[in-house]
Amino acid sequence: MKIAVVGTGYVGLVTGTCLAEAGNDVVCVDIDRAKVARMRAGKVPIYEPGLKELFDRNIQDGRLSFTTNLKKGIDKAEVIFLALPTPPGIDGSADLSYILGVAKTISAMIKDYTVIIDKSTVPVGTAAVVREHITKNAKADFDVVSNPEFLREGRAVRDFQNPDRVIIGTSSDRAWKVMHRLYKPFVLRDDSIIIRMSEESAELTKYAANAMLANRISFMNGMANLCELSGADVREVQKGLGGDPRIGKEFLHAGPGYGGSCFPKDVQALAGTAVELGYDFPLLDAIHQINERQKSRLFEMVRSYYAGKLKGKTLALWGLAFKPKTDDIREAPALNLIDALTSAGAKVIAFDPEAVANVKKHFGRKKLLSFAKDEHAALSGADALIIITEWDEFKTLDFSKVKKLLKEPVIFDGRSLYELDEMQEQGFYYASIGRRVVKPA
Ligand code: NAD
Repeated sequence: MKIAVVGTGYVGLVTGTCLAEAGNDVVCVDIDRAKVARMRAGKVPIYEPGLKELFDRNIQDGRLSFTTNLKKGIDKAEVIFLALPTPPGIDGSADLSYILGVAKTISAMIKDYTVIIDKSTVPVGTAAVVREHITKNAKADFDVVSNPEFLREGRAVRDFQNPDRVIIGTSSDRAWKVMHRLYKPFVLRDDSIIIRMSEESAELTKYAANAMLANRISFMNGMANLCELSGADVREVQKGLGGDPRIGKEFLHAGPGYGGSCFPKDVQALAGTAVELGYDFPLLDAIHQINERQKSRLFEMVRSYYAGKLKGKTLALWGLAFKPKTDDIREAPALNLIDALTSAGAKVIAFDPEAVANVKKHFGRKKLLSFAKDEHAALSGADALIIITEWDEFKTLDFSKVKKLLKEPVIFDGRSLYELDEMQEQGFYYASIGRRVVKPA
């Protein structure tokens, strides 16, 4: 099929590349000239495992190309994906201006029957609004379909190529056939996971999924705080809880609060939808509030250890991305922590395998913040280590090296990566989320 993908961020670029890999002709359109120039020069603008290989192959085979020219980009497209940002507006509800702006522009450009696909996460009712915007100028038949994306950054290619389910929201049989043909290569073993529903249901399903996952995290973070206060261990509670098949093992990790470009904004946008529809849904506000509080938990641990005297301390920080295997720092708890520590007068030496460039861009030149070339360089001369993202390379600690490099053997761990007994034996002061604090014997 001839496909256009408008917006080549984490979702659009993965979608476009994976669809090209499946044999389609894909043109990716983006307004960001520098980004398009980089992609044309063969550079992937984001870090996403496995993407580079597919990106290179499909450019070379002539199935994947990039342009800033929307008209040219959608010229022959049978389907147009809108993978545009939907950031929170001032009141937290989703800002649809990117989507509606592009919808309006393409309305006069489509020449033959086209399926226009909302891939972005959009509030219930958006497909109808997009349809209205296009209808005004359209000179050809078209359908608007809601096809929310469920890929996880860090494993986006794998998720796109092996989806748990594909949600197609449409009342049009013609559009359904096109969508089914498009996704069939990714679900060869069981095409029943391509689920057809109304566009409203599809739109709400995406928010429901993110709010449910965010809910599990906030619930476990609340439990972690109860564990700390009561002497229980959140990892033990997690194990016992996850053993119940009605609950399941996934997404029960306590931590420094969820971040990323999806959960924070989508929970708030869904809360906004509830308000708009006149439904009181206090659970959504609670999920958000618990998360906001949790984002300062690590800072509180550090501050209380130093009895509020952080001025002049040097702290090594491992992990900046909102989760491992991505360079995405949007809403990352590390950013709040850096702000809090430096405002309190502490020096921060940070390391992340992929996200340093984005953090440098985010803060510009920031007093008291510097970056190390690897995890051990960050420790040199630091008073303590703080771990905030669970990259694989942080999971095994070289105890003697860490002790030698740090001024004191002190670790604050937002991801509870290490065994308490071992940390005690090794002589660390070790404070982690939801577990007892270990002190050197
Ligand atoms: P992103 O910010 O990484 O990418 C958006 C891209 O759109 C950028 O490259 C930007 O330059 C481009 N753009 C903006 N305006 C444009 C215009 N007028 N014309 C062409 N291009 C334009 O965003 P993302 O993370 O890919 O998210 C896109 C949507 O998908 C959002 O609604 C998000 O909630 C949703 N989503 C994201 C994820 C994720 O893990 N990132 C997962 C599922 C769904």
